[in-house]
Amino acid sequence: MTCKETKSLLNAYVDGELDSAGSLAVETHMRACASCLTDVENLRGLASAIENGSLRFKAPARLKRNVQAAIRAAHPETRSSVFYWRWASVLASAVLVIALTWIVTTRWARSSEETLLVNDIVSSHVRSMMANHATDVSSSDSHTVKPWFGGKLDYSPLTKDLTEQGFRLIGGRLDYLDNRPVAALVYQRRLHFINLFVWPSNKAAIKEQQQLARQGYNLIHWTQSGMTYWLISDLNVAELSECARLLKE
Ligand SMILES: [Zn+2]
Repeated sequence: MTCKETKSLLNAYVDGELDSAGSLAVETHMRACASCLTDVENLRGLASAIENGSLRFKAPARLKRNVQAAIRAAHPETRSSVFYWRWASVLASAVLVIALTWIVTTRWARSSEETLLVNDIVSSHVRSMMANHATDVSSSDSHTVKPWFGGKLDYSPLTKDLTEQGFRLIGGRLDYLDNRPVAALVYQRRLHFINLFVWPSNKAAIKEQQQLARQGYNLIHWTQSGMTYWLISDLNVAELSECARLLKE
């Protein structure tokens, strides 16, 4: 095989594409031809350099910076808005989580606080009926009951006589609710006794009237003019609501 013929086969030889007769012919020629041997060595070196990646090169940092600068110059809002929105969304999620946690915890705390208070109110009502100790001062005269609280409480509770409307004021007593002494006013409707608990409200928000039932008793709760009112009785809801409406007038 001539040198020219051999050189035309060297690429195929290095890539292992020749049949055994072709490979043998190339190898026989190379033993006598330094030029072809050198070509084969160069081709093998090139192939392995491509394979192991030593011919790849990393773009210099300066080029990278220049490209980024060019992109920013063309789209000035790109980086800052992406940055802004990424952080805004992270912040929004965090705020949402905090807000939800706060709402759930305060709701829970508030509702458990209120449940305890309602239980206390029911107990107070029941106790006042059981111990035959509904009143400390017995009078249907609000001008007697109101001054009786003077000096016993740091506020003056509403003592409305509703005898004419069918709710007879029978007196008042001191009770202890919501971690403080409170006024309890006792009304009677036929054979039903009604306790009205009054104390200054620590809640700024004006609440809607609440109506609930516990252990067979009806309770109506509202706040008015900075005072908290709890009305409780075994009287039916309709008549108890009427009592609440008259007291609020
Ligand atoms: Zn040759």
